[in-house]
Amino acid sequence: MDFAIRIFFIIPIFGTYFTTAEDFGYDGSIGPTYWGERYQECRGKHQSPININVLRVKQVALPDITFIGFNDPIDNVHVTNNGHTVLIEVENEPHPRVSGGPLDGTYVFSQMHFHWGDNDTLGSEDKINHRSFPMELHMVFYKEEYNTVKEAVTHTDGLTVLAFFYELDRHQHPAYDDITSALSNVTDPHSSIVMNNPFSFLNILPYDLRRYFTYRGSLTTPPCSEVVIWLDFEQPVRLTHEQIEVFRELRSASGKIRHNFRPIQPIGDRTVFYNIDSNYYTYNEIDDPEAHTEWPQTRKRGNSASISRISLSYFTFMLILCNTLG
Ligand SMILES: [Zn+2]
Repeated sequence: MDFAIRIFFIIPIFGTYFTTAEDFGYDGSIGPTYWGERYQECRGKHQSPININVLRVKQVALPDITFIGFNDPIDNVHVTNNGHTVLIEVENEPHPRVSGGPLDGTYVFSQMHFHWGDNDTLGSEDKINHRSFPMELHMVFYKEEYNTVKEAVTHTDGLTVLAFFYELDRHQHPAYDDITSALSNVTDPHSSIVMNNPFSFLNILPYDLRRYFTYRGSLTTPPCSEVVIWLDFEQPVRLTHEQIEVFRELRSASGKIRHNFRPIQPIGDRTVFYNIDSNYYTYNEIDDPEAHTEWPQTRKRGNSASISRISLSYFTFMLILCNTLG
């Protein structure tokens, strides 16, 4: 192991808004069913997570998302077991940022953390067509104009969370080796280490960052504030069973954290939007002499021959099928 680790057994100064309480859990009398007794907002009408029914999403072509600093090597990455999950926080300034897509303004990175389940058949918070994934990554950003997370959570557009699903692969994901190595040093609750090896956000994310679902929801832990613009990216990150298993070794005050996902909440009157890849059309035009004569969007449904040439994702396929069937 070639990266230096400094071990602290104190609660770090970072991310305290999310990390101080140990008055909730995922089982028994402090489980999700009872969160609302102490935290009113957990009974709200626009809670997360939700099940995303792909046949009910509204297809949109939003502006490209701008990922700022996602490719930069980041030093001094803090990895903390807060008793509920593992948090990853960064010191470097300026923090990575995100803008565009459904977002109005710029959002600044606060922290990222994970949700997982007892085994590989469950663990994600949001579900797609009632499908669970074994793990989910949440990258939490606050709106820059609100200056702090504490202030941001008092505004309905205060936070955005970029959510990424995981699925199983036979091959290890090399970028996750440093994270899983770090985890073995923070199995105890409220332990923290600093990874000194370079770390870039893009290395741990899927290749396709253009296709995502987006909806308005809440924090998935108390106080369940309804202040989050969710972006759920369609393409999962692929890890081995062994890499995911390392997360299940982390401990809370009451034993191993075998699961830390909240059950799905009613979608209510909300709409989930599905952003399609704007380049999707561009690929289609490469050998099509008529391409310049019409707007790509109007051509899409009318030209089945060109649709058949491109590789459709499952979700896109379902959407087109849905539109065709009316
Ligand atoms: Zn989360």
